[in-house]
Amino acid sequence: MINFYPGPSKIYPGIAKYFEEGLTSGLFSMNHRSTAFHEFYNSFKTTFRTYFNIPDDYEVSILSSATEAWEVINQSFSNQEFHHYFNGAFGKKWKDYNVLLNNKVNTHSFDYTEALNTSVIKNKEGIICLTHNETSNGTYINDSILIEIRTNNPNALIAIDSTSILGGFTFDFNNFDICFSSVQKCLGQPSGMGIIITSPKVKGFLNQSTTHYNDLGNILKNSEKSETTHTPNSSGIYTLYRTLQDINPLDEINKRTKLRFETLISTCIESNLSIVSPNKEICSPTVICINLDGRRFTEVENIALDHQIIIGKGYGVHKETSFRLANFPAHNDEDIKTLISFLKSL
Ligand SMILES: *Cc1c(COP(=O)(O)O)cnc(C)c1O
Repeated sequence: MINFYPGPSKIYPGIAKYFEEGLTSGLFSMNHRSTAFHEFYNSFKTTFRTYFNIPDDYEVSILSSATEAWEVINQSFSNQEFHHYFNGAFGKKWKDYNVLLNNKVNTHSFDYTEALNTSVIKNKEGIICLTHNETSNGTYINDSILIEIRTNNPNALIAIDSTSILGGFTFDFNNFDICFSSVQKCLGQPSGMGIIITSPKVKGFLNQSTTHYNDLGNILKNSEKSETTHTPNSSGIYTLYRTLQDINPLDEINKRTKLRFETLISTCIESNLSIVSPNKEICSPTVICINLDGRRFTEVENIALDHQIIIGKGYGVHKETSFRLANFPAHNDEDIKTLISFLKSL
C-alpha cells in the first residue's frame, strides 16, 4: 500500500538502515546530558540548518509535535497580544487553544478561496500567527505574501505553522521568527517528533519570568548548550539527521513537488474532479484537497484501495465533502503514476 494520507504518510526508504545504525552505535540510549550527545545534537543542528538554508543565528529545538509548538508559543508570550490569521481547521485550533489560556487574542479568519489580504496586516505589535500550509483545505501562503507581512510589521514576531510544507518546498526563513513542523509529513519520518526554529528576535518578546516547564525561554536555554529540556526522541533526531544527509537538495525536491502538483491538478481537471479551493494561486503544492462531489468517502477510498493507495479523509468543515492527498517528497515516480491512474479512474 502506498500511503498518500497527508500525514502520517509514506516514510523515506532509508529509515530501516538508519535505525540499524542508531541501534548498533548505542546512540538510542545515549545520555542526553553527555558530551557525546552534545556533539551529535550539534551535528544534527548544522545539517538541519544547512539543508534548509536557515540563518546561522536561528536556533533549532526539538519538541514532541507541532501541536505542542502551538501550546509552547501560546504559553511563552502571554504578556503579548496575538494576531491569528487562518482560513481552516488547523489555524483555527491553534487560535482556539490560545483563547482558552485567556491570552489577548485577535481573531482574523479569511476565505479559503482568496489569498490572505496583507493590506490589513500592518504595524502590528505582538505575535502574528500564520498557518503556512492549511492541511485541512489544501491552501498555502506564498513567499511574496510572507515578505509583505514581514516588511509591514517590523515590531511584531511572526510565528508560522509549516507542518505540512517543511521538507517539501523551499521558503525563506528570514520571513519568520518562529517556524515549526512535525516529522511525519514532508520530512517522511516515523511520526512523533516536532521541530521549532527561532530567530534571535524571539528573546525580546518572551514572558519576563518562566511560568511553566516547556517555556520557550527554557527550551532555548537548553538548545543553546546542545541539550533538550526533556529526554529526547533520539531515534527521531537520528533518522531525520541521516535522511537530510541522503536525500536530494531542497531545490530539487521543490522543483519536483511543483511539477507533480501541476500534473496532479491537470489530471483532476481532465477527470472532472474539482479542487476544494478553486483559486490555483493559493493551492498548496504539498496537500491536495479534492471535492467528493456527492460521492461517499468510502466509495472513493475503496477505489483507491483497489489501486493499492491510502487516501486521506476530509478535515474540518470539509470533512464529509472532500478527500485529501499528500504530494510529499518520499513518494517516488512510480507512486505518483499509480496516484494518477487512480485519479483517472474516478
Ligand atoms: C499535522 C498538522 C499539525 C499537527 O501535527 P502533530 O504532529 O499531530 O502535532 C499541526 N498543524 C498543521 C498545519 C498540520 O498539518
